[in-house]
Amino acid sequence: MFVDIAKIKIKAGDGGRGAVSFRREKYVAAGGPDGGDGGRGGNIVFQVDSNLSTLADFRYKRSYKAKNGEPGQGGRKNGKSAEDLIIKVPRGTVIREVESGAVMSDMSDDEPFIAAKGGRGGWGNTHFSTPTRQVPRFAKDGTPGEEWDVTLELKLLADVGLLGFPNVGKSTFISVVSEAKPIIADYHFTTITPVLGVVDLGDGNSFVIADIPGLIEGASDGVGLGHEFLRHVERCRMLVHILDAAGSEGRDPIEDFEAINRELRKFNEELASRPQIVVANKIDLAEDGQVERLRKYIEDKGYEFMTMCAPIAEGTKEVINEVWKRLADLPPVKRYETEKIPATFFEKKKDDGFTIRVEDGVYFVDAPWLLKILARTDLDDYESLQYFERVLQSSGIIAALVEKGIQEGDTVSIYDLEFDFVY
Ligand code: GDP
Ligand code: MG
Repeated sequence: MFVDIAKIKIKAGDGGRGAVSFRREKYVAAGGPDGGDGGRGGNIVFQVDSNLSTLADFRYKRSYKAKNGEPGQGGRKNGKSAEDLIIKVPRGTVIREVESGAVMSDMSDDEPFIAAKGGRGGWGNTHFSTPTRQVPRFAKDGTPGEEWDVTLELKLLADVGLLGFPNVGKSTFISVVSEAKPIIADYHFTTITPVLGVVDLGDGNSFVIADIPGLIEGASDGVGLGHEFLRHVERCRMLVHILDAAGSEGRDPIEDFEAINRELRKFNEELASRPQIVVANKIDLAEDGQVERLRKYIEDKGYEFMTMCAPIAEGTKEVINEVWKRLADLPPVKRYETEKIPATFFEKKKDDGFTIRVEDGVYFVDAPWLLKILARTDLDDYESLQYFERVLQSSGIIAALVEKGIQEGDTVSIYDLEFDFVY
């Protein structure tokens, strides 16, 4: 089963709780605070694994959770931080946040990507002693780990994408021109996982060609090629469209050519207008005049037309040289830029509510949704801070604090953030 799109849940580990503890010494009733900090929760990290070629692993396991940090202990002992959870994906996987559709990362290089940050450990009560508060009986919870619903979408990284109906000779072609060894058989839909082949032209010159899963059954009956298939050619710099010149399976190569280009346009105009070389294969089986009629039709449409007999490597070298020549003038493989998840995405969670708890004159605000906003607030940036204040206002947190009797100068504590209340 070939899977090229998956939806999963990821959750980084929560930070461990800070400890409330007091030093015990002989003959001393109650010593100073000595509660240690909680440990950091594990991150969720994505990493490319070159040995993977599909997202099949994500078909059955849909939820990934990193471990929580350990709580702090007495004697100023900090809790242990949790290890990151590494999720391996095939190269070319694009990670998106589900609700906003924003691209979080395009996993095209070997750089690991932290998709969900682990929560920070809460401070132990050692941090909270002040001249006026010598016996702090509170510590802080760790912050929760980030949590996301994400889609993984495999968009192969290849310079050249092969187009063509089943059995026209795509696998044969790629096996002749590269070291890739795809399954070649005389029945449809043999290609169930994408095959990448590196074409080596010598002198350190090479390019990558992709043979993509067979067209879905019934494509010729108008069902369409399906986006599953076309997703993979989206990134290619150019396309090589292979036709069965002899129509050896009782189909018409011109109809095939038109059907595929129609689907391309439907899926993505820009993709349809990408450079495309048309290669007529199986010329050994073609009858007199068949190839020339095809050539005339294709060239009249403005495409470059070539011929080959793939199994005996007749004409294949010429195709490769032509592709190489064309690639020199084409832009590099398309990368997806990281997109910002819109602020409204986080604001929507305001309805999830909040709680306020007062301890030792400190107003603790607890609202997990606020944490995501906080994580993206730059406390040194005036505009960013103003936005944060607006959220506090519009969510009713400020009003609730006032209702609880907060006075000017009292301390407000929201996870890591601590500030004096001013009207
Ligand atoms: P794909 O489905 O497009 O990958 O097609 P394959 O490469 O698997 O080829 C389908 C069948 O056509 C296989 O039996 C090949 O041996 C055969 N074939 C491929 N190219 C040629 C050719 O140029 N001439 C002839 N006679 N048979 C070919
Ligand atoms: Mg094939």
